[in-house]
Amino acid sequence: MPNWLSNFVLPKIRTLVGRKEVPDNLWRQCPGCEQTLFLKDLVTDLMVCRHCGHHFRIGSVERFKMLFDNAHFETIDLPKTPVDPLKFRDRRRYTERLREGQAALGAGSDAIGVAHGRIGGVAAVVAAFDFGFMGGSMGVAVGEALIAASRVAVERQAALIVIPSSGGARMQEGILSLMQMPRTIIAADMVKEARLPYIVVLTDPTTGGVAASFAAIGDIAIAEPGAIIGFAGARVIEETIREKLPEGFQRAEYLLEHGMVDMVVKRTELTATLGRVLRLLREPAAMARPA
Ligand SMILES: [Zn+2]
Repeated sequence: MPNWLSNFVLPKIRTLVGRKEVPDNLWRQCPGCEQTLFLKDLVTDLMVCRHCGHHFRIGSVERFKMLFDNAHFETIDLPKTPVDPLKFRDRRRYTERLREGQAALGAGSDAIGVAHGRIGGVAAVVAAFDFGFMGGSMGVAVGEALIAASRVAVERQAALIVIPSSGGARMQEGILSLMQMPRTIIAADMVKEARLPYIVVLTDPTTGGVAASFAAIGDIAIAEPGAIIGFAGARVIEETIREKLPEGFQRAEYLLEHGMVDMVVKRTELTATLGRVLRLLREPAAMARPA
Protein backbone atom coordinates (compact mmCIF):
# COMPACT_ATOMS: atom_id res chain seq x y z
CA MET A 1 0.00 0.00 0.00
CA PRO A 2 1.50 3.37 -0.99
CA ASN A 3 2.41 5.53 1.94
CA TRP A 4 1.67 9.14 1.09
CA LEU A 5 3.79 10.39 3.96
CA SER A 6 7.04 8.82 2.79
CA ASN A 7 6.29 9.05 -0.95
CA PHE A 8 5.01 12.56 -1.11
CA VAL A 9 5.71 14.61 2.00
CA LEU A 10 9.25 13.50 2.84
CA PRO A 11 10.73 14.30 -0.60
CA LYS A 12 9.12 17.76 -0.39
CA ILE A 13 10.61 18.36 3.06
CA ARG A 14 14.00 17.24 1.79
CA THR A 15 13.76 19.70 -1.08
CA LEU A 16 12.79 22.44 1.34
CA VAL A 17 15.73 21.88 3.68
CA GLY A 18 18.07 21.30 0.74
CA ARG A 19 19.25 17.95 1.98
CA LYS A 20 21.75 16.52 -0.46
CA GLU A 21 21.21 12.95 -1.56
CA VAL A 22 24.94 12.35 -1.88
CA PRO A 23 26.23 8.99 -0.68
CA ASP A 24 28.68 9.34 2.19
CA ASN A 25 31.33 7.41 0.33
CA LEU A 26 31.94 10.37 -2.01
CA TRP A 27 33.29 12.52 0.81
CA ARG A 28 35.85 12.35 3.58
CA GLN A 29 36.29 14.66 6.48
CA CYS A 30 39.92 15.57 7.12
CA PRO A 31 40.98 14.66 10.68
CA GLY A 32 43.64 17.39 10.43
CA CYS A 33 41.55 20.48 9.55
CA GLU A 34 37.98 19.11 9.55
CA GLN A 35 37.37 20.31 5.98
CA THR A 36 35.12 18.10 3.89
CA LEU A 37 37.04 16.71 0.94
CA PHE A 38 35.71 15.29 -2.29
CA LEU A 39 36.99 11.71 -2.37
CA LYS A 40 37.87 11.97 -6.06
CA ASP A 41 40.16 14.96 -5.35
CA LEU A 42 41.63 13.19 -2.34
CA VAL A 43 42.52 10.16 -4.49
CA THR A 44 44.10 12.45 -7.11
CA ASP A 45 46.15 14.03 -4.29
CA LEU A 46 47.41 10.58 -3.14
CA MET A 47 45.15 10.78 -0.07
CA VAL A 48 46.80 13.95 1.23
CA CYS A 49 44.53 16.83 2.33
CA ARG A 50 44.92 19.76 -0.08
CA HIS A 51 44.12 22.24 2.70
CA CYS A 52 46.36 21.17 5.59
CA GLY A 53 48.59 18.40 4.21
CA HIS A 54 47.20 15.70 6.50
CA HIS A 55 48.31 12.27 5.23
CA PHE A 56 45.43 9.77 5.32
CA ARG A 57 46.30 6.13 5.98
CA ILE A 58 46.38 4.05 2.81
CA GLY A 59 46.52 0.33 2.10
CA SER A 60 49.26 -1.80 0.58
CA VAL A 61 47.81 -1.93 -2.94
CA GLU A 62 47.47 1.87 -3.09
CA ARG A 63 51.10 2.09 -1.97
CA PHE A 64 52.25 -0.28 -4.70
CA LYS A 65 50.36 1.66 -7.36
CA MET A 66 51.92 4.96 -6.37
CA LEU A 67 55.48 3.73 -5.74
CA PHE A 68 56.32 1.36 -8.58
CA ASP A 69 57.28 2.75 -11.98
CA ASN A 70 54.20 3.01 -14.22
CA ALA A 71 52.18 1.39 -11.40
CA HIS A 72 53.58 -1.90 -12.66
CA PHE A 73 54.30 -4.56 -10.02
CA GLU A 74 53.88 -8.21 -9.18
CA THR A 75 52.53 -9.21 -5.80
CA ILE A 76 54.25 -12.06 -4.00
CA ASP A 77 52.23 -15.01 -2.70
CA LEU A 78 52.78 -15.10 1.03
CA PRO A 79 53.24 -18.24 3.14
CA LYS A 80 50.07 -19.70 4.67
CA THR A 81 50.21 -19.60 8.45
CA PRO A 82 48.19 -21.45 11.10
CA VAL A 83 44.92 -19.67 11.83
CA ASP A 84 44.17 -18.82 15.46
CA PRO A 85 46.89 -20.95 17.11
CA LEU A 86 45.76 -20.02 20.64
CA LYS A 87 41.98 -20.25 19.99
CA PHE A 88 41.84 -16.68 21.22
CA ARG A 89 38.66 -14.91 22.10
CA ASP A 90 38.07 -11.42 23.49
CA ARG A 91 34.76 -9.70 22.79
CA ARG A 92 34.79 -11.61 19.52
CA ARG A 93 36.60 -14.63 18.22
CA TYR A 94 39.96 -14.01 16.59
CA THR A 95 38.82 -16.07 13.60
CA GLU A 96 35.91 -13.66 13.12
CA ARG A 97 38.25 -10.68 13.12
CA LEU A 98 40.46 -12.42 10.57
CA ARG A 99 37.49 -13.18 8.34
CA GLU A 100 36.39 -9.56 8.50
CA GLY A 101 39.85 -8.35 7.43
CA GLN A 102 39.99 -10.92 4.66
CA ALA A 103 36.56 -9.95 3.38
CA ALA A 104 38.05 -6.52 2.59
CA LEU A 105 41.49 -7.59 1.37
CA GLY A 106 40.99 -11.08 -0.08
CA ALA A 107 41.02 -14.66 1.19
CA GLY A 108 44.15 -15.68 3.06
CA SER A 109 45.37 -12.07 3.36
CA ASP A 110 46.71 -10.48 6.52
CA ALA A 111 47.92 -7.03 7.61
CA ILE A 112 50.68 -6.80 4.98
CA GLY A 113 51.18 -7.05 1.23
CA VAL A 114 54.46 -7.66 -0.61
CA ALA A 115 55.23 -6.81 -4.23
CA HIS A 116 58.25 -6.36 -6.47
CA GLY A 117 58.95 -4.15 -9.42
CA ARG A 118 61.09 -1.11 -10.19
CA ILE A 119 61.27 2.28 -8.51
CA GLY A 120 63.18 4.94 -10.43
CA GLY A 121 64.40 2.12 -12.65
CA VAL A 122 65.93 0.19 -9.74
CA ALA A 123 64.71 -3.27 -8.67
CA ALA A 124 62.82 -3.06 -5.39
CA VAL A 125 60.67 -5.23 -3.14
CA VAL A 126 58.06 -3.32 -1.13
CA ALA A 127 56.37 -4.75 1.98
CA ALA A 128 53.51 -2.44 2.98
CA PHE A 129 51.16 -2.77 5.95
CA ASP A 130 47.37 -2.54 5.83
CA PHE A 131 46.29 -0.70 8.96
CA GLY A 132 42.68 -1.53 8.06
CA PHE A 133 43.41 -5.20 8.80
CA MET A 134 43.25 -5.47 12.60
CA GLY A 135 45.19 -2.24 13.10
CA GLY A 136 48.12 -3.49 11.03
CA SER A 137 49.03 -5.73 13.95
CA MET A 138 51.99 -8.05 13.60
CA GLY A 139 51.39 -11.76 14.10
CA VAL A 140 52.98 -14.84 12.58
CA ALA A 141 51.65 -14.04 9.08
CA VAL A 142 53.30 -10.60 9.05
CA GLY A 143 56.57 -12.07 10.33
CA GLU A 144 56.49 -14.74 7.60
CA ALA A 145 55.67 -12.09 4.99
CA LEU A 146 58.68 -9.99 5.96
CA ILE A 147 60.96 -13.03 5.81
CA ALA A 148 59.52 -13.88 2.37
CA ALA A 149 60.05 -10.27 1.24
CA SER A 150 63.71 -10.40 2.36
CA ARG A 151 64.27 -13.67 0.51
CA VAL A 152 62.83 -12.26 -2.70
CA ALA A 153 64.95 -9.11 -2.33
CA VAL A 154 68.12 -11.21 -1.94
CA GLU A 155 67.18 -13.52 -4.86
CA ARG A 156 66.50 -10.57 -7.14
CA GLN A 157 69.35 -8.44 -5.80
CA ALA A 158 66.73 -5.81 -5.07
CA ALA A 159 66.36 -3.20 -2.34
CA LEU A 160 63.85 -3.94 0.40
CA ILE A 161 61.48 -1.13 1.38
CA VAL A 162 59.21 -1.78 4.36
CA ILE A 163 56.29 0.57 5.07
CA PRO A 164 54.79 -0.06 8.51
CA SER A 165 51.43 1.27 9.66
CA SER A 166 50.77 -0.71 12.78
CA GLY A 167 49.56 -0.70 16.36
CA GLY A 168 52.24 -3.25 17.22
CA ALA A 169 52.15 -6.92 18.12
CA ARG A 170 48.88 -8.86 17.66
CA MET A 171 47.69 -9.72 21.14
CA GLN A 172 45.46 -12.53 19.87
CA GLU A 173 48.59 -14.51 19.06
CA GLY A 174 50.24 -13.89 22.43
CA ILE A 175 53.90 -14.84 22.70
CA LEU A 176 53.91 -15.93 19.04
CA SER A 177 53.43 -12.32 17.99
CA LEU A 178 56.26 -11.12 20.25
CA MET A 179 58.50 -13.72 18.62
CA GLN A 180 58.08 -11.83 15.35
CA MET A 181 60.22 -8.98 16.70
CA PRO A 182 63.54 -10.86 16.58
CA ARG A 183 62.41 -12.73 13.44
CA THR A 184 61.78 -9.53 11.50
CA ILE A 185 65.13 -8.12 12.63
CA ILE A 186 66.75 -11.28 11.25
CA ALA A 187 64.80 -10.76 8.01
CA ALA A 188 66.15 -7.20 7.67
CA ASP A 189 69.66 -8.45 8.47
CA MET A 190 69.46 -10.97 5.59
CA VAL A 191 69.11 -8.03 3.21
CA LYS A 192 71.85 -6.02 4.90
CA GLU A 193 74.24 -8.98 4.82
CA ALA A 194 73.64 -9.29 1.08
CA ARG A 195 74.74 -5.62 0.85
CA LEU A 196 71.37 -4.55 -0.44
CA PRO A 197 69.58 -1.42 0.80
CA TYR A 198 67.05 -1.82 3.60
CA ILE A 199 64.81 1.24 3.76
CA VAL A 200 61.92 1.92 6.13
CA VAL A 201 59.15 4.41 5.41
CA LEU A 202 57.48 5.08 8.75
CA THR A 203 53.82 5.99 8.31
CA ASP A 204 51.05 6.76 10.73
CA PRO A 205 51.10 5.02 13.15
CA THR A 206 54.27 3.01 13.75
CA THR A 207 54.12 1.80 17.32
CA GLY A 208 54.72 -0.99 19.81
CA GLY A 209 56.54 -4.13 18.77
CA VAL A 210 56.81 -2.88 15.18
CA ALA A 211 58.50 0.40 16.18
CA ALA A 212 60.80 -1.64 18.41
CA SER A 213 61.93 -4.18 15.82
CA PHE A 214 62.48 -4.08 12.04
CA ALA A 215 61.14 -0.51 11.76
CA ALA A 216 63.95 0.80 13.98
CA ILE A 217 66.89 -0.54 11.97
CA GLY A 218 66.54 0.85 8.44
CA ASP A 219 69.75 1.83 6.64
CA ILE A 220 67.66 4.84 5.76
CA ALA A 221 64.60 5.85 7.75
CA ILE A 222 62.06 8.05 5.99
CA ALA A 223 58.87 9.22 7.71
CA GLU A 224 55.66 10.67 6.33
CA PRO A 225 54.75 14.14 7.69
CA GLY A 226 52.78 14.08 10.91
CA ALA A 227 53.12 10.32 11.35
CA ILE A 228 52.95 9.26 14.99
CA ILE A 229 55.85 6.99 15.72
CA GLY A 230 55.81 5.30 19.09
CA PHE A 231 59.13 4.65 20.61
CA ALA A 232 57.28 3.79 23.83
CA GLY A 233 59.26 0.59 23.77
CA ALA A 234 62.42 2.66 24.01
CA ARG A 235 64.06 0.31 26.46
CA VAL A 236 63.55 -2.60 24.11
CA ILE A 237 65.16 -0.60 21.33
CA GLU A 238 68.05 0.44 23.54
CA GLU A 239 68.73 -3.19 24.28
CA THR A 240 68.23 -4.16 20.66
CA ILE A 241 70.34 -1.59 18.89
CA ARG A 242 71.93 0.20 21.88
CA GLU A 243 70.65 3.61 20.98
CA LYS A 244 69.25 6.06 23.47
CA LEU A 245 65.78 7.20 22.50
CA PRO A 246 63.23 9.27 24.42
CA GLU A 247 60.18 7.59 25.87
CA GLY A 248 56.73 7.98 24.43
CA PHE A 249 55.08 8.69 21.12
CA GLN A 250 56.52 11.33 18.81
CA ARG A 251 55.68 12.83 15.48
CA ALA A 252 57.92 12.35 12.48
CA GLU A 253 59.17 15.96 12.62
CA TYR A 254 60.39 15.57 16.23
CA LEU A 255 62.27 12.41 15.30
CA LEU A 256 63.90 14.21 12.37
CA GLU A 257 65.00 17.05 14.64
CA HIS A 258 66.57 14.52 17.00
CA GLY A 259 68.27 12.52 14.30
CA MET A 260 66.11 9.42 14.69
CA VAL A 261 64.83 9.50 11.14
CA ASP A 262 66.84 10.67 8.14
CA MET A 263 64.10 12.40 6.17
CA VAL A 264 60.49 13.50 6.44
CA VAL A 265 59.08 13.23 2.93
CA LYS A 266 55.63 14.21 1.68
CA ARG A 267 53.75 11.38 0.00
CA THR A 268 53.59 13.37 -3.22
CA GLU A 269 57.41 13.40 -3.28
CA LEU A 270 58.02 9.92 -1.89
CA THR A 271 58.24 8.05 -5.18
CA ALA A 272 60.77 10.49 -6.67
CA THR A 273 62.80 10.56 -3.44
CA LEU A 274 62.94 6.77 -3.19
CA GLY A 275 64.02 6.59 -6.84
CA ARG A 276 66.87 9.03 -6.19
CA VAL A 277 67.94 7.25 -3.00
CA LEU A 278 67.90 3.84 -4.70
CA ARG A 279 69.95 5.10 -7.65
CA LEU A 280 72.51 6.64 -5.27
CA LEU A 281 72.74 3.45 -3.24
CA ARG A 282 73.34 1.41 -6.37
CA GLU A 283 76.70 3.11 -6.84
CA PRO A 284 79.40 0.58 -5.93
CA ALA A 285 80.84 2.42 -2.92
CA ALA A 286 77.48 3.09 -1.30
CA MET A 287 76.69 -0.32 0.13
CA ALA A 288 80.21 -1.32 1.17
CA ARG A 289 79.23 -2.11 4.74
CA PRO A 290 81.90 -2.21 7.40
CA ALA A 291 82.54 -5.83 8.35
ZN1 LIG B 1 43.06 18.83 6.20
